[in-house]
Amino acid sequence: MANELAAYSELRARLKRVHVLGSVGGLLGWDEQVNLPPAAAAQRGEQMALVAELVHAEATAPALGAALAACEAAPAGALDEEASVVVAAARRDFDRATKLPAELVSEKARLSSEAYHAWAAARAARDFAAFAPYLEKHLALARREAELLGYGERPYDLAIDRHDPGLTAARIDTLFTELRAGLVPLVRRIDARAEAARARGEAPLALKGFDIAAQRELVRRVTERIGFDYGRGRLDVSLHPFCEGSGDDLRLTTRFDADNPLDALYSSIHEAGHGMYEQGLPREHAGTALAQAAGMAAHESQSRLWENQVARSRAFWRWLGPELRAAFPGPLAGVSEEQLHAAANAVEPGGMIRVDADEVHYNLHILLRFDLEKRLFAGALRVAELPAAWDALCEELFGRRPAHAGEGVLQDVHWSGGAFGYFPSYTLGNMMAAQLWAAARARLAGIEENFSRGEFGRLLGWLRAEVHARGRREDAFALTRRVTGEDLGAKALLAYLEERYG
Ligand code: ZN
Repeated sequence: MANELAAYSELRARLKRVHVLGSVGGLLGWDEQVNLPPAAAAQRGEQMALVAELVHAEATAPALGAALAACEAAPAGALDEEASVVVAAARRDFDRATKLPAELVSEKARLSSEAYHAWAAARAARDFAAFAPYLEKHLALARREAELLGYGERPYDLAIDRHDPGLTAARIDTLFTELRAGLVPLVRRIDARAEAARARGEAPLALKGFDIAAQRELVRRVTERIGFDYGRGRLDVSLHPFCEGSGDDLRLTTRFDADNPLDALYSSIHEAGHGMYEQGLPREHAGTALAQAAGMAAHESQSRLWENQVARSRAFWRWLGPELRAAFPGPLAGVSEEQLHAAANAVEPGGMIRVDADEVHYNLHILLRFDLEKRLFAGALRVAELPAAWDALCEELFGRRPAHAGEGVLQDVHWSGGAFGYFPSYTLGNMMAAQLWAAARARLAGIEENFSRGEFGRLLGWLRAEVHARGRREDAFALTRRVTGEDLGAKALLAYLEERYG
C-alpha cells in the first residue's frame, strides 16, 4: 500500500511540473499578445519553442510513465475515486504525448507558423488558391496523427476528442441535425422581421464617443460584480480578446472602441466567464484532472452563459442600465433603457462573418464549418472544392452567399494552425449554456430578481458546486446529464432563442 501511495505522490508531483512549465509558456503567449515590442517576435518565438520542448520532455518523462504504471498496477481499492480520475486522465495524456514523434510535433509547429502568414496574406488578397497548399499539408498531418494515436470510427474523431474528450463526429451529427431543423426556420423568421424593420427606415441605435478610460472602469466593475476575482487575475488589451492562465493567475483581455462600448463589455463578460471557471477549479489539485476543465464545450458553456443568458437579459439590464448611464452621461443623453437593451440584443441578418455574428446566427456558422470539416476528413470533399462547397452551404443556411473568399472560406484563423475539430465546441457550449440556464432558473427561485439588483453570487455559487468543483471528472454529456437531468440536446437552446428573439 505504501508503495502505491508513493507512486501516486510521485505521479502528482510530475504532473505538477508539466502544469507549471506549461503555465510559463502560457504567460509568454499572453505577453506576446499584450506587451510585445514589434521587433521581438522572433526572440519570443525562440523562448516559446524552447518552453514547449521542455513541457513535452516533462510530459513524456520515463519517470512519469513509471509512476503512472505503478499506480495502475496497485491492487483494487488502493486508489480512491479522486486518484482513479487523476490516473485515468494522466494515462490518456501520457499516451497522446508519447505516441507522437517529436519530428511530427515540430513539423506541425513550423507549418502552422508559415501557414498563419500565408493565410493572413491570402485573406487580404481574397485568394483561396494561395492558402490551399497549406491546408492540404495540415490535413495530411492530422491524418498521420490520427493513424499514430488511433481514433474511433473516423480520423476526424481524434481532432474532436482532442478538444472535447468523449465526443465523436457521429454524436455531434445527431445534435446538429436536431439543431439545424429548428434553427433555420427560426432564423428565417427573425431575418424577415429585421429586414421589414429596416425597410420601414428603423435604423439601429448609433452609439458615439464613449471615453475609453470610463469604459475600462465600467468593464472592470461589471466583471468584478459578476464574480471574477481581480485578486487572482487582471484585465488587459489585445487585438482579439482571450483568457489565459489558471489557479491564482488569470489574464483576461479585451479591446476598446469609442463608438461601440458594448463590444468591450460583452467580450469582457465572455472572457470573465472562462476566467471564473478556471478560478473555480480546485487549485490544491493543480496539474491533475481534478483541477482541469471538462473540455472546450464546457468551457464555452460558462463564457456564453454569463455573456448571453445573464448579461443580455432584461433583468441584468435593470441593474446595468443605471450603471452605464452614470459612467457615460453625455453619450447616453436621450437614449432610453429600452433602446440600450435592444442594442445589446440586436440581430444582424445577412452577416457572413462568424466572429461578428449575434447569438442567433452564430450557430449557423458552426453548422457550416462542422459539415465541411467532416467531408474534408472523410475525403468526400477535396481542398480545391472547398470554396464552392462553402458558398453553397451558406446559401442553404443563410439564404445568401459571401461576396468573396475573405468573408467566406478564408475568414477564420483556425485552419492555419491545423485546429480542426474545434469549431463544434462553440455551439455545443451554447447548447450546454441554455440547458444549465434552464436548470438554474428552475432551481434558484427568484434568480432574475437577483440580477436586477446586481447580485450574481447565487448563480456563481451554483455553477461552482455543480460544474467548476468537478474538474475533468466527466465529459460534456455526463456533466449535462448530471446537472440538468436531461441529455445534451438542441431543445433548450432553441427554446431560449425563441423566447428571447422569436
Ligand atoms: Zn470563449
